[in-house]
Amino acid sequence: MSMLKCVICGMNVNEKNFNLNSYAFIDGNKKSYIRYCPFCGVNEIYLQEDGKVYSVDVNTLDSNTIKILDHAMKLEVFNGDFYVEASKLVKNENLKKEFLDLSRIEYMHANVHKRLGGFKELSELHKPDYTKYKKDEEFLEIAKKREEHAVAFYNKYSKVVYSEIVRKTLNALSEVEKEHIILIETK
Ligand SMILES: [Zn+2]
Repeated sequence: MSMLKCVICGMNVNEKNFNLNSYAFIDGNKKSYIRYCPFCGVNEIYLQEDGKVYSVDVNTLDSNTIKILDHAMKLEVFNGDFYVEASKLVKNENLKKEFLDLSRIEYMHANVHKRLGGFKELSELHKPDYTKYKKDEEFLEIAKKREEHAVAFYNKYSKVVYSEIVRKTLNALSEVEKEHIILIETK
């Protein structure tokens, strides 16, 4: 297997790591066919030999685009935090693994926004208390709403950013969140 670079998150995909976060995919990677970046979840068109990572000079971005990236980073941290907590609270063992893998992918999305926006650190957010939810179905319901919100956010703001690179990145991540909705709906 040749080494592939993900142009969205910048990670190198190889035979040691292609199977990471496999619970976050419906029909995930096989050694013979790498369909997704195991780190950020984008599809194979963004995995390229000698790939050049999507980057922008932050000084060329307008303030609204930086604000959108900041908001996107917070949204992904919020969702990553949710999946970590949910993975501890759900009872089904498979769902625990799935939520944990999803958390890693959402945090990677947050890191993509951090890099593009030139932010120093990932946001630290207030963590809501999710222990009032008791059933696995309730967590699946929240997860679905979170993913739908993320898709709506990306669709809305990809149209207003002034950078082609940022727009392409938001669109790529939106596709990942759409796949998460399908994954959650199959539970
Ligand atoms: Zn990636």
